[in-house]
Amino acid sequence: GYRSRAAFKLLEIDDKDRLLRRGQCVLDLGSAPGAWSQVARERVGETGRVFALDLLPMAPIPGVDFLQGDFTEEATERALEALLAGAVLDVVLSDMAPNLSGIASVDQARAMHLAELALDFAVRHLRPEGVFLIKVFQGEGFDDFRRALGAAFRSVAVRKPKASRDRSAEVYLLGRGLRGA
Ligand code: SAM
Repeated sequence: GYRSRAAFKLLEIDDKDRLLRRGQCVLDLGSAPGAWSQVARERVGETGRVFALDLLPMAPIPGVDFLQGDFTEEATERALEALLAGAVLDVVLSDMAPNLSGIASVDQARAMHLAELALDFAVRHLRPEGVFLIKVFQGEGFDDFRRALGAAFRSVAVRKPKASRDRSAEVYLLGRGLRGA
């Protein structure tokens, strides 16, 4: 079984958009407890590779290279780059969401900051035809982020899987194909 119901969101998006393919190299940001990594592992198969990162520890998944760290820290990015060891990514997934402070404006700003860092990392490590799927929250900064995604990728789509219908502000943005690549 999957470690979280989050699996069903990725499965639904992937069944429609065909992001994950055999042999691919995938990075899963905000991976704990590990459901998306499980799905990615199944879909890329033995010939693929899955790298995962989270602030929290994650129980091992065979075939998934996990790094624990805070993605907002420069040192974590360096450690992640060391783990990738030059691997060029086919897919970057980010389901990161900050721990909630309860102050909506603070939580939204933190979420958008994580999204910007993930976009920046994806642009630097994806192959030209690469795919970026990220959870974002509608609200302050959403439109700017969507524009930034449109400036970075040739195509941008919004996805709202059925499994996320109860979380009203949450949507997934899907960027495909780096511009200027
Ligand atoms: N996709 C996961 C799955 O399928 O099991 C669920 C991810 S959960 C919704 C969001 C994750 O983002 C949490 O595990 C949280 O620890 C992580 N996260 C939040 N802030 C982070 C940060 N600064 N760096 C790394 N991970 C972070």
